[in-house]
Amino acid sequence: ARPPVAGVVAAHVRDVPDFPQPGVVFKDLTPLFVAPEAWDRVLTALADGRHGEVDLVAGVEARGFVVGAALARVLGTGFVPVRKAGKLPGDVVAATYGLEYGEATIEVQTGAVPDGSRVLLVDDVLATGGTAVAAWDLLERVGARVVGFDVVVELGLLGGRDRLGVRPVRSLLTVG
Ligand code: AMP
Repeated sequence: ARPPVAGVVAAHVRDVPDFPQPGVVFKDLTPLFVAPEAWDRVLTALADGRHGEVDLVAGVEARGFVVGAALARVLGTGFVPVRKAGKLPGDVVAATYGLEYGEATIEVQTGAVPDGSRVLLVDDVLATGGTAVAAWDLLERVGARVVGFDVVVELGLLGGRDRLGVRPVRSLLTVG
């Protein structure tokens, strides 16, 4: 019998206390990214969509690129990068938001998404939800219909799911 995917994730997440600053327990998913069988289980679980049809996958720089690009390949879709400010050429829309640690600005290219495309947004970790809400809104500003937000690990006590409100959220493992 194969272990449930939540257990596979739990076995491949490394907790790093006080990184990148005191008081934050960083969830390092690198052990998952370097384990081909476990990573394949995770991608398969993410691809078992409960969000219906998906035209494009979007991910937030940097670890959302790892999850999103791999998942896009599994689903046979393209991938839309949501990047930190100043990295994308051409016309962009931008949003600034608060994080568990600090503040950030992210950008999406206007014209990156064909109008009305169904876009699945993904990231490695859901913490306060600030990143996800900002990315979701940017994608909609450039014409996407975002169908859901999927993460590998959800930090349940930080209230990210509440912050996302009615937007559908799915996580493979929820931890306190
Ligand atoms: P948030 O906007 O607070 O939901 O933060 C989510 C973003 O920051 C994601 O892109 C995560 O990769 C990263 N992040 C925030 N907190 C953590 C944490 N404790 N461990 C790992 N990544 C985190």
